[in-house]
This record gives sequence, structure tokens and C-alpha cells, in this order.
Amino acid sequence: MKPRHYLTAPEQIDAKKATPEPMTLRPRPEILGIDPYTPGVSKLPGAQRVIKLSSNEGAFGPPPGALRAIEAAIHSHRYPDGGATALRHAIAERFGLDAEKIVCGAGSDDLIYLLCHIYGGAGTELIMTEHGFSIYAIAGRIAGCDIVKVPERNLTADVDAILAAVTPATRMVFIANPNNPTGSLITADETARLRAGLPPHVLLVLDAAYAEYIDRPDYDPGASFVDAGENTVMTRTFSKMFGLGGLRLGWAYAPAPVVDLLHRVRGPFNVSLLAHDAGIAALAEPEWVEKSRAHNTEERGRLTEALSEAGLLVHPSEANFVLVDFGDPATAEAADMHLRAHGLIVRRVGGYGLPHCLRITVGRDDENDLLIAALREFQAARHG
Ligand SMILES: *Cc1c(COP(=O)(O)O)cnc(C)c1O
Repeated sequence: MKPRHYLTAPEQIDAKKATPEPMTLRPRPEILGIDPYTPGVSKLPGAQRVIKLSSNEGAFGPPPGALRAIEAAIHSHRYPDGGATALRHAIAERFGLDAEKIVCGAGSDDLIYLLCHIYGGAGTELIMTEHGFSIYAIAGRIAGCDIVKVPERNLTADVDAILAAVTPATRMVFIANPNNPTGSLITADETARLRAGLPPHVLLVLDAAYAEYIDRPDYDPGASFVDAGENTVMTRTFSKMFGLGGLRLGWAYAPAPVVDLLHRVRGPFNVSLLAHDAGIAALAEPEWVEKSRAHNTEERGRLTEALSEAGLLVHPSEANFVLVDFGDPATAEAADMHLRAHGLIVRRVGGYGLPHCLRITVGRDDENDLLIAALREFQAARHG
């Protein structure tokens, strides 16, 4: 008797094959076109001290109060509050928002995936920018959307180009503001122009993962558009300044109908008890934000200046990382290897269409000292 195959490795499946093998598990064809997300490297075999500047995690880890809350919640055999009520109210209080319009998730990625599932589907289009955050393309493809990447101008989202790309099939526009990995931002006026130019059937998702780092009066992370009743969602995270990336906690601020849909599709307990309690405690330390922002602004400036003096092109950044241009992919790779030999891990961004660049997270002062010294050495060796 012929063996029955219940499972087929993805690489053995021909997505275009017209007649499916009977008795074979077949994923949806569009899933086979997805490249897995590449996380920042975190280990260097053999290195004595590893300095991880590859994932934009806050320089100082979680605030002390959050660590105490995690310890207190460690015996978490009971399910958490699925509605994350206390956390939503803490977020609302801290940022002056309406708790009913907040939905929490296992990282903001969770909410991005859910939005794509809600509004995507075969025959729909998701617009993002040329060097936009890669999760949008992954989440969109899973949901069956066609991904439309719009050119940027000076590594910055180009509102006119985005508006020109809208078709009747467009359902969502995703903008990371500021963007990862470029660090560039669009101002509140530009965001307003974008929203005003989009037809009502298009959801604008403003991903403000780095909002806590920004201290510019012309910046709006997006809540005002949500409150004005526009079809706009703002997403935020505890993974960056609040140092809780490992616990997975993010939130969305959305109009009531979108909130209703998110609650229907989210996992019933998508925020763990530890993340919930740590998030509330982290919000109760506003000095943490002040200290981290001041440190970041200062050290980002110092990195930019020192690396520019060493002859490198450093793109202006509003976030807790800088994008450094090495001129060509081979030099960027050589610089990456040199840094690794010194125990420093930074981020390759070839997958973002920037193979000649490296993205470097702003670390603590001593970490930045080592980074600067290593790149000065690299530049000196290059130029003899
Ligand atoms: C880091 C980052 C996030 C955060 O993802 P989480 O799932 O909340 O950890 C979201 N968007 C952008 C642009 C980021 O850089």
C-alpha cells in the first residue's frame, strides 16, 4: 500500500501546482512567500563581554519598580485579567487617554498582526514605505494582503508618494513614526496631511514604538487623530524605553469600532500576568522616562558627532539608534565583523534595502565609548 503523507516540508511544496496531492497538508500558498523576521543577533561565541546594540532595547533595562512587580507576580498560576483593565487605566491616566479605546497585546507586534487579520485578506493592499519596519510586510502577507512599498525621500516617509499609491483595494497604511531602521520622523503637520488625504476606507496605523524618546513640539504620536474620530490607530510598546521586550507588552489606541474588532480577534489572555503588572509599575516611574530620554538625546548626539568625525555618514535619528552609512555593502560587512571581534553586536539592515548601512542602538555611556573606539580603529585601518 502507498504510504500516506500527512505532512510535507514547506520546501517540497510547489505553491503553483494546480492539483494538490491528496492526503497532504498544504499551507496557504501566500504563507510560503514569507521570509521569517530576522531578529538582532544576541550572542557571540567566544567573546568575553558581549555588548548588544542590535535590537533597540532601552539602554537601562526595566525600571526598578517593574522588576519588583515581576517578582511579586511570579506565582502566576491564575489566568490574568483578559481585558487588562488595570493596565489600560494606568496607560490612560499616564498619557491622558480614554481607557476604553486602549487594547493591550503581547508586544505591539501582536496588535499589528491582528489589525492585518481584521482589515486584510486576498485582493487587499497594504501600503508601507520603502525602508519601513519589516513586521508590516510579514503580518500583511499572513493576512493575504498584497504589500505595496512606496519610495521614501531622504530616507523619510513621503506623504505624496503614499497618497499616490492608494487604490480602491488599499485597506491599511503603516508608518513607523519615527521609523526603524532609518530613525526619521514625519511631523504632526505631515501626519495630518497624510490622514486628510487618505480616503475613509483606509486605516492609518501610526506605530509610535519610540515615542517616549521624542521631545519635539512638532511631533504627534497619533492619539489626537484617534480622538478626532479618524480611521487611525496608534500602536505603542513597553519593549523600548521601558525595557520590557522580553515580557512582550504593547498597546493600541483606536476608535471604538476598531477596539471592538480587536477584542474579538485577540487571544483571550494575550497579556501575561507578569507583563500586566510590570507595565503598571513601569508607568509609575515618570523619572525613568525623563532620565532615559535625556541620556538618549545626549548619547545619540555624542555618537553622531564622534562617528561623523571619524568620516562616517550618520543619518539624523529621533529614536534610540542611529543608522550609519559605510558607503558600500562590503565595507558595512567588514565594519560589522570588526565590531563583533570587539564583542559589539549591531544590526545589519540589508533586509531593509540598506546593505551599505548598520543600525546601532544607543547604549550606556561605557558601551558607546567602546563602540566609538572600535569604529575609530576601523576607520583608521581603512584609511591607512
Ligand atoms: C521595536 C519595534 C516595535 C515593538 O515591537 P514589540 O512587539 O512591541 O516588541 C514596533 N514597531 C517598531 C517600528 C519597532 O522598532
